Amino acid sequence: MPAQTTISEAQEIIQDSLDYTLFSWSKQKGVTPLAIRRAEGVYLYDYDGRRYIDFSSGLMNVNIGHGNQRVTDAVMRQMQEVSYVTPGCVTKARGDLGKKLAEITPGNLKKTLFTTGGAEAIENAIKLARLYTGRHKIITRYRAFHGASYGAMTAGGDPRKLPSDSQQAPNFVHVEDPYCYRCPWSQEIQTCHRECVSHIERVIQFEGPENIAAILMEGESGTSGCIKYPPDYLQKIRALCDKYGILLIADEVMSGFGRTGKWFASELHGVVPDMIATAKGITAGYLPLGALIVTDKIADHFNDRILWLGLTYSAHPVVCAAAVEVLKIYEDENLLANAAAMGRYLDQQAALLKEQHPCIGDFRNTGLLGCFELVKDRATKEPMAPFNANPGEMAVMNQVAARIRQLGMYAFVRWNYVFVAPPLSITREQLDEGLAIISEALTIADAPVTH
Ligand code: PLP
Repeated sequence: MPAQTTISEAQEIIQDSLDYTLFSWSKQKGVTPLAIRRAEGVYLYDYDGRRYIDFSSGLMNVNIGHGNQRVTDAVMRQMQEVSYVTPGCVTKARGDLGKKLAEITPGNLKKTLFTTGGAEAIENAIKLARLYTGRHKIITRYRAFHGASYGAMTAGGDPRKLPSDSQQAPNFVHVEDPYCYRCPWSQEIQTCHRECVSHIERVIQFEGPENIAAILMEGESGTSGCIKYPPDYLQKIRALCDKYGILLIADEVMSGFGRTGKWFASELHGVVPDMIATAKGITAGYLPLGALIVTDKIADHFNDRILWLGLTYSAHPVVCAAAVEVLKIYEDENLLANAAAMGRYLDQQAALLKEQHPCIGDFRNTGLLGCFELVKDRATKEPMAPFNANPGEMAVMNQVAARIRQLGMYAFVRWNYVFVAPPLSITREQLDEGLAIISEALTIADAPVTH
């Protein structure tokens, strides 16, 4: 009789997914997904009982932490009453959520169109800006990521769009980022003249202000490397928008819902955008939801005009019920204040790690949206892996990422960035536990450092 090979439950689960499902942004051969059985707080547990500290809150969305029973209960209650109504009908959850969003967004941002995720919120923001202004161009930043659908992908500058380059949507104009660590104008933040802003004004003039519907920017940069805006940057962008009658759209998909220590990063920068496109933290990832929140002025424009936007799952009752509960949890558990406090602690600890690890070129963080930028040489700032690195250039970073996982952490590592974006419920001790893992993994990257 041939020897029977027994495979574990975990292997079977992984194999079914490998055989019958596709994996985003990856070569299909060679992906090594974790099979997660359950998750609680800041920890994920696999089928072999191994524990991983989740230092990226999933995809920077599980802000309240995993496994909160209150959300499950809210979802069940809603499902027992009604699971679906068309977007032309209303439910209590829809109105409650809209009202709460109007309360927590800055200024006169008042009315919300619900979508099913971030990219759709961005798509609708772009469409609405064009309908409202009658203009067609959208100005965005080269390093931003706004989602993977055609419009959102084209709006971003993330190189994941380059394989589909010939299919990019028309009428997007890109500008340089205010990447102070690698300033495109070789300036220092203390003495510069905000060349990053005058550059945008020149682009507006070249493109014709009368053609520009909106400037779209992340409320705070995320996967683009947590590139921190100079303190007055967004206010200056707001002033440019006002000067030329351009709308300001804040992409708060990642930076919203406490990630930066405030409900929205726009608030942190003292600006009121004309629209906020958001998702992720609105349900903390428990169910998929996106939102486009607009000012009363924009909403009123459509009082006597048709709003040419719509989705089957807009304002899905179950998802809205989950979001209403999640927003209560942020408040009941004081998560915004905790994110701000833990962010300050993280900044201190990261400064200590920088003393120990020559590979850390820079650490940038706002609340709990942070990243280490690794370099081969602090003097030249040569990155450990370049922007849009090919697999060969990722050798060291891949080893760092593998070590992080081996040591029991789930983290987001991209090019020469190691992100720190844990659930906002994290404690000091848990932050220490995670940073100790990162510190150990960074010794791999210290080896090739020349200075
Ligand atoms: N905008 C930003 C800033 C994001 O980080 C993301 C996703 O990571 C998106 C938009 C797209 O959101 P989704 O993946 O829900 O479509």
